[in-house]
Amino acid sequence: MRKGALPRELDLRGLAAREADISGEAALTDLGRLVNAGVGLAAPAVAAFEFRRDEEGRYVVEAQIKAEVVLECQRCLGEMTQILETRTVMACIWNDEDAAELPPSYEPLIVQETANLSDIVEEELLLAIPASPMHAEDCITEVQRTALGKQDVCIDSEGRKESPFAVLAKLKS
Ligand SMILES: [Zn+2]
Repeated sequence: MRKGALPRELDLRGLAAREADISGEAALTDLGRLVNAGVGLAAPAVAAFEFRRDEEGRYVVEAQIKAEVVLECQRCLGEMTQILETRTVMACIWNDEDAAELPPSYEPLIVQETANLSDIVEEELLLAIPASPMHAEDCITEVQRTALGKQDVCIDSEGRKESPFAVLAKLKS
């Protein structure tokens, strides 16, 4: 196991009974669903887990995750990085039906005998990723500049130059 990597195949209920704390890192190679979703990581995600039982005897897992993800900007289609920070309090349940009995302060965490903490990191990051990520600044100006730079080749059939706005309109269509 890599130094600092999250342990695998853990008995989460046992950890909750012992009130354990576990922290570590998850690299992109541990997070296959992120890769499938086209999401990259600027650095390994950092996660801290606290396990405990509540007054009702539930097995509780509190997860704090921080990651700098690499996404595709939906405006300029360039790469952008975004820091995601999540904190979730989950209760271990065996199946979907048990979820209905959980108080709203808990997220359901369906786990059997053992679980990989990296699966939780993966799930939390996927939930935290914005649906339409975009650069904070007006990144389209990069494309506009390129378009304006090429405007002297944009000559229409009658030999007139198209205006930069017409070039942009074409780009957007
Ligand atoms: Zn952009």
